[in-house]
Amino acid sequence: HEESEVLDVLTERAPALGMEPTCLALYEGRSEDVPAAARVLLPKGDRGEPGAVLETRTLTFDRFLAEAEPRSLAVLPLIHRGLSTGIVAFATRTLAPCAAVARQLAVALESVRLQAAMRALTLRDDLTGLYNRRFFESELQREVERSRRFRHDIALVMMDLDRFKDYNDTFGHRAGDEALRSVATCLVASAHRRADALIRYGGEEFAVLLPETNVAGARRVAERFRRAVAACGDFQRPLTVSAGVAALRGEACDGERLVLEADQALYQAKREGRNRVCLASPSSPNDG
Ligand code: GH3
Ligand code: MG
Ligand code: MG
Repeated sequence: HEESEVLDVLTERAPALGMEPTCLALYEGRSEDVPAAARVLLPKGDRGEPGAVLETRTLTFDRFLAEAEPRSLAVLPLIHRGLSTGIVAFATRTLAPCAAVARQLAVALESVRLQAAMRALTLRDDLTGLYNRRFFESELQREVERSRRFRHDIALVMMDLDRFKDYNDTFGHRAGDEALRSVATCLVASAHRRADALIRYGGEEFAVLLPETNVAGARRVAERFRRAVAACGDFQRPLTVSAGVAALRGEACDGERLVLEADQALYQAKREGRNRVCLASPSSPNDG
């Protein structure tokens, strides 16, 4: 179920119980009794979308008070397993059903939240916390479609650790795993745009999908990642990455081709001696 479905059920059924939901907000963060911020699901925003995050103390519950007919205002915490997860307010003629509705609401919304969290987990790599291949495949498809529609570039950087088998053989698999985690931390720290999806593509291969980025821009990003890994001191001995960069635009955009071209550029970087960035398509060495 989606959050919007829960809202639909609530707004459809509540009037029959003489209740009108005037406010529904879910707390952001669970550390305190009443967290400082809350995401407002009701009332909906101008474009009918929930989701604005407000300071909890600025929430208002009483927009029905201007009405001529007297009604009560019930403000109830949403409680799930003893934890306040949010707050709901009803304008109502009778208080009786409010508690029961709030209880059901808390359960339904918590289940939606858990499902979303579970779904998010299946898109992450356990070792590094980066996105995984599954995420990459769906994101690639989505971005390729956007690129075709809006005719902008999409770039892909593929990276592979240099001589990593030897690192494993020398320091052991656990140290290798640690190194992979450090590489991930280093890549995250070097990513400028939060939107840039960092992916653990395979064992010691990483990828970054760069929407609305041309080959020159992608090369700069790849070069930044390459330098950051080479400068990282968290390894048993220095490690480097080789990177391949490919970019496609509009009609020419095809996910498989993008991956293939970036991969070929990566192999070229290996052949040319590693710890370097190579571009897929022939382009002037001075662009970017
Ligand atoms: P190259 O510079 O050509 O890439 O050499 P390489 O040794 O990195 O390449 P190769 O493909 O021969 O070896 C990759 C190694 O990466 C094999 C494996 O020992 C190691 N590896 C892959 N996944 C993991 C992992 O999850 N943990 C650890 N510790 N090592 C891994
Ligand atoms: Mg490899
Ligand atoms: Mg390698």
